[in-house]
Amino acid sequence: MKIAFIGLGIMGREMALHLAKHDVDLTVYNRTQKDFSELKKEGVILAKSVQDAVKDADIVFSMLSTPEAVSEVFMKEDGALTFMKSNAIWADCSTVNPSFSKEAFKKAKAHGIRFLDSPVSGSKPQARNAELIFFVGGDKAVLDDVEPYINMMSKKLIHVGDTGKGTSLKMLVNVMLAQSMLIFSEAVLFGEKMGIDKDFLLDLLPGLVVSAPFTKFKAEGIKKDQYDVQFPLEWMHKDLHLAALTAYEVNQPMYIANVAKEVYASAKKQDMARLDFSAIYRYLEQSK
Ligand code: NAP
Repeated sequence: MKIAFIGLGIMGREMALHLAKHDVDLTVYNRTQKDFSELKKEGVILAKSVQDAVKDADIVFSMLSTPEAVSEVFMKEDGALTFMKSNAIWADCSTVNPSFSKEAFKKAKAHGIRFLDSPVSGSKPQARNAELIFFVGGDKAVLDDVEPYINMMSKKLIHVGDTGKGTSLKMLVNVMLAQSMLIFSEAVLFGEKMGIDKDFLLDLLPGLVVSAPFTKFKAEGIKKDQYDVQFPLEWMHKDLHLAALTAYEVNQPMYIANVAKEVYASAKKQDMARLDFSAIYRYLEQSK
């Protein structure tokens, strides 16, 4: 099988590297030329255009930032779908909204391409250690062809259901992640205001049952005021925006998630877009 991987950002480059280390026949493409020496060392072909990357591929993975980026690269008139082989598979790992995934499925089908929405749970360290969890929507028979390659990048694969169900599950997971980070940050700042030592709180709170387990790792960054990007704050805001759109489509109120969305929007305006999303603590701290 020939595999293509499109989008070598924080996540994509780590994921592609696992395919390369398993000796997969791999061609990759990124819009901007950067230092991809790790991939080159593994003998990966770096295509100069998306057309070159996908034209011979049996499976094309994509890991792009937003629905707009996915649409531009794949779905516009001279997008990747027009160059892909008939009956090839497009597995979109980007975090997008379910209605967008359904649209992508339709466009792919019109080009004779099979489609899976296959977003991932986990961040840069999990991508680096092949410990991602894939949430897949689409036909099981299509997934069977892609599964061996997903397994190279992950510790778990969940086939959630038909098209759009992978991105649906991913969306609600990120809604919880965004809010948990905000709740934790607000509680620590509240404790400090009441005179409790910050480091004491950052050590204690993540171990209590009321905290989400991931806050243990984020607390270490908060202690050092270090927010080196793993999951960019701008993409957390994007995910909350997409959740709000989806909530409208399915006629479901999302009270707290919409409040969280606006807090992340404000932090993004304060030059925090490319910090880790845990910098929401710094934003609240500066606003107190
Ligand atoms: P990132 O580092 O910002 O990378 C984004 C990628 O999209 C880059 O390869 C970028 O290319 C490409 N891109 C953006 N707009 C494009 C366009 N118009 N045309 C072509 N390429 C374009 O983001 P990331 O953290 O890897 O995240 C990628 C996706 O995974 C997002 O949907 C994110 O929500 C999701 N996700 C991220 C994490 C995480 O912890 N980071 C975890 C799970 C899921 P350039 O290099 O040319 O800009």
